[in-house]
Amino acid sequence: MKFADLGLTDELLKAVEAAGYSEPTPIQAQAIPQVQMMRDIIAIAQTGTGKTASFVLPMIDILHHGRRRARMPRSLILEPTRELAVQVAENFEKYGVNHDLKMALLIGGVQMGDQVKALDEGVDVLIATPGRLMDLFERGKILLTGCELLVIDEADRMLDMGFIPDIEFICEKLPTTRQTLLFSATMPPPIKKLADRFLSNPKYIEV
Ligand code: AMP
Repeated sequence: MKFADLGLTDELLKAVEAAGYSEPTPIQAQAIPQVQMMRDIIAIAQTGTGKTASFVLPMIDILHHGRRRARMPRSLILEPTRELAVQVAENFEKYGVNHDLKMALLIGGVQMGDQVKALDEGVDVLIATPGRLMDLFERGKILLTGCELLVIDEADRMLDMGFIPDIEFICEKLPTTRQTLLFSATMPPPIKKLADRFLSNPKYIEV
């Protein structure tokens, strides 16, 4: 399997080459085509397997078509910690260099002013920890009704950190016709329940 067989844009293939990757990892080879086909996925994959690129690359491909609207992010990536959110943002910057995508990072411990300004300007990709996202949502600074692509990353860590009620709240605010990608290292019963409730006919991928 080569990256060129995955149907990514030429710009993304260049970005992957610039990153020095010679071939897709197993999670990338399996997940990227499913995400491009707009399927929901449940991916059981540990950190270090290349799972971040398995959603970031096809998301860039999907999102570079379309139009931004103020306060209505087009996609949302939920991360359990600030550090992970920052890493995913760095991946978007690395792979998305030649794509005109606006990204905003909503994490705690940072002033809200710049985050609100970014939301007002329109965002393609919102990368957030649940706490800060809930806070801005409750202040009326963000609408989730235009968000048609959701990634729940490190779902088992979300569970350990007590974020499942927040994730349920957020999922209920998103349009029901959306694509949802769930990544987790393990599949304990509460995560299975979350997936049953909020994913639609997901493709199950285990690496
Ligand atoms: P992740 O599992 O997303 O945290 O990625 C782990 C590491 O693998 C990161 O440092 C990536 O830069 C790297 N990586 C991602 N995809 C590939 C690939 N196809 N070939 C080699 N390294 C990769």
